[in-house]
Amino acid sequence: MNNADFKEDEIRPVDLMKDQHTAMMVDIGRLLQHADEFIEVCCPACEEDNALYQFHKYGLQFVECINCSTMYTNPRPTEKVLDEFYKDSVNYAYWNKYIFPASEDIRREKIFIPRVDKTLEICKKYEIENDSLLEIGAAFGTFCTEMTSRKYFKKIVAVEPTPFLAETCRQKGLEVIEDIVENIKFDENKRFNVVANFEVIEHLHSPKNFILNCKKLLKPGGLLFTTCPNGKGFDIQVLMEKSNSVDHEHLNYFNQQSLGLLLQNNGFKVLESQTPGKLDAELVRKKIISGEFDVSKKPFLYQVLIEKWEEVGEDFQEFLTKSELSSNMWIVAQLL
Ligand SMILES: [Zn+2]
Repeated sequence: MNNADFKEDEIRPVDLMKDQHTAMMVDIGRLLQHADEFIEVCCPACEEDNALYQFHKYGLQFVECINCSTMYTNPRPTEKVLDEFYKDSVNYAYWNKYIFPASEDIRREKIFIPRVDKTLEICKKYEIENDSLLEIGAAFGTFCTEMTSRKYFKKIVAVEPTPFLAETCRQKGLEVIEDIVENIKFDENKRFNVVANFEVIEHLHSPKNFILNCKKLLKPGGLLFTTCPNGKGFDIQVLMEKSNSVDHEHLNYFNQQSLGLLLQNNGFKVLESQTPGKLDAELVRKKIISGEFDVSKKPFLYQVLIEKWEEVGEDFQEFLTKSELSSNMWIVAQLL
C-alpha cells in the first residue's frame, strides 16, 4: 500500500458520519432560510451567461455552462449569507469536535503529509523562495502544523474565518487570521511566496474575487495552490446529483480547463494541473452497494465496480487518476 492509498471510512469514520448527516441537514435548513436573498450569477469560470439546467438537490438548482462545462448552483447565496452561514455552521462544529479529532492521525498520514510533500516538491521544482506561505481555509490546522514541522518556510500564516476552527488552529500554535480573505489587508512588503487553498474555491460565491484577492497577497512570481472537485471526474460524472461531492456547500464544480481559464484571465500562468484523487471508484461502488445508485442497466459499471472489483478495482482507480479523470483536482498557478 503506498501512502496515497486509503479508504473513505478511514477519513470519514462510519459511526460518526451518521450524526454528521443530521448536522448537515440542519445546516441546509439554515441556508435555505435565506433563499429569497440568493442571486443569479454568470458562469464562475468563463463569465458567460448560457447554462443548461441539470438537477435540483437540497433545494438548490444546479446548471452547467455551455461554454466551459463548469457546473454551478444558480441562483446562489451571496457572500454575506455564506459568511453568516459558515460562522455558525452546525456541520463544521461537528467536524471540529468529533470527526477531525477522531481521524486526525489517519488524515495527517494519508492526506496532509502527501499534500505537504507535493507542495514542497512543486515549490522546489519552480525554485520558489521560502520566506512565507499563507493557507486560506486552514480548518483544523493540520496542513500548517505539518508544513511548520518541515522547517522549510520561515513564516506560515493560517487564514480561518470560522471562530471555533480558528481557535483550534491557535491552540496548535499557528499564527491565525480569523477573517475571510476578502477582508485581509497586507502592505506590499508583507506578501507571500505561496498562497495555498485546499477545498475552498468550490464553496465561494465569487471564485473570481477570491483569485483576485489571492493575487494581492502574492509576491510577483509566487505560486497559488488550489485543490477542488473536478466536475469532469468519474465520481461526479457518473453519480451527478447522487454524488456526495454535490452538496449545498459546493457552489462551483470546475474542471481543469475552466479553472485554468479563470486563473489565466486573472493574471496567472498555470504550471501544473492534475487529478490525483484516489476515491472515485470506491465512492461509486459504495453507492451501488447501498442501493442509491442503480446499475442494473449499466452492466459495465457493475462488472468493474462489483463483479471484478477485487481484480481490477485498484487498477481502474489508478487509470482514472493518471488519465486526469478523477473527481479531485490540483492546479498550481504562478502570478505573472
Ligand atoms: Zn463557463
